[in-house]
Amino acid sequence: MINSFHPPKRILMGPGPSDVNPRVTAAMGAPTIGHLDPAFVGLMDEIKELLQYAFQTSNQLTIPVSAPGSAGMESCFVNLLEPGDKVVVCQNGVFGGRMKENVERCGATAIMVEDEWGKPIDPNKVEEALKANPDAKMLATVHAETSTGARSDVKTLTALAHDHDCLSLVDSVTGLGGIELDVDGWGIDAIYSGTQKCLSCPPGISPVSFGERAVEVISNRKTKVQSWFLDMNLVMGYWDGSGGRTYHHTAPVNSMYGLHESLVMLKEEGLENAWARHALNHKAFAAGVEAMGLSFVVEVDYRLPQLNSVTIPEGVEEAKVRAALLNDYNLEIGAGLGALAGKVWRIGLMGESSCKTNVLLCLGALDAVLTDMSAPINSGKAVSAAQAIYSA
Ligand SMILES: *Cc1c(COP(=O)(O)O)cnc(C)c1O
Repeated sequence: MINSFHPPKRILMGPGPSDVNPRVTAAMGAPTIGHLDPAFVGLMDEIKELLQYAFQTSNQLTIPVSAPGSAGMESCFVNLLEPGDKVVVCQNGVFGGRMKENVERCGATAIMVEDEWGKPIDPNKVEEALKANPDAKMLATVHAETSTGARSDVKTLTALAHDHDCLSLVDSVTGLGGIELDVDGWGIDAIYSGTQKCLSCPPGISPVSFGERAVEVISNRKTKVQSWFLDMNLVMGYWDGSGGRTYHHTAPVNSMYGLHESLVMLKEEGLENAWARHALNHKAFAAGVEAMGLSFVVEVDYRLPQLNSVTIPEGVEEAKVRAALLNDYNLEIGAGLGALAGKVWRIGLMGESSCKTNVLLCLGALDAVLTDMSAPINSGKAVSAAQAIYSA
């Protein structure tokens, strides 16, 4: 007989999903109501307003797409591109490669600007590519590369895009809520994110925002958006209250309760305070990692506080370490992806997971597991090195 499912209680310190606050899961357990119920319509309006706060934008077209971050990515590309368009795509990890795939599936051409995995996007290379391709329509960049832990300067990259008459499209799935992001201040034209990284919601929803220039491009398309579900011209009618809400799809009602609560919590904490919390917990964690004698893939100036790529010590079977952490400590950390597979652990300090207890637990657990395997580390130093940062 198949019984009810009871998930094990885990501490999530991988590349997402991150831990979910009980306030969010409690909100999701509230009774389901109709998605055209006036009470739900009111909730939709509040979510839009809270997302404008999180993105720091007054863009009217700021909404949660009813599907995971990958759907936010896809909705940006399919709405902004038409066959024959040219896009400069920056790749310094996994997600730039997915952008290329999206561009090509739209019948457009991707001009690739590649940087080493673990390095930020190089604005000089981007400028060269924009100069060499004056007919490019858009520049696509990843703010926070979750596959490596590198942060790119999307403020500078967006300014470059505008200098060359291009739209700036930014992936901030892992950035939003964890590091500084100012959509209007930086002039970003289109951006997408996810709920399960620094917003600490369960996965499944993708906040997106389109600025005036992007909306103009969408409204003046010559061809239909090839995805019916993600066509913003249709989705706008569902999320825009002015003309009365029309049925497009059935929003995941209870997931929206959760997103609403997590955004309320972000507002209560304050964006700047959330960024500062991520920065502090990273600093303490990094002190512990380095005291152990392990190192980071990404240079300190470009390191994401919410995603730490830590090199695996010589001779250690990395999958065994992750299994021991999961089995003995209920602690999930991530494996390396793509070019970094087998070379690093990806340890997330995202959203709710970015807290002192998690930092100390993870350092203590790693120290104990690696010491038990006779790995070449400085044993017994990590936790006190992190403590010292908190007491400073
Ligand atoms: C997680 C992630 C995505 C994809 O989000 P899903 O919710 O897994 O579809 C896209 N871009 C980046 C940078 C991510 O970290």
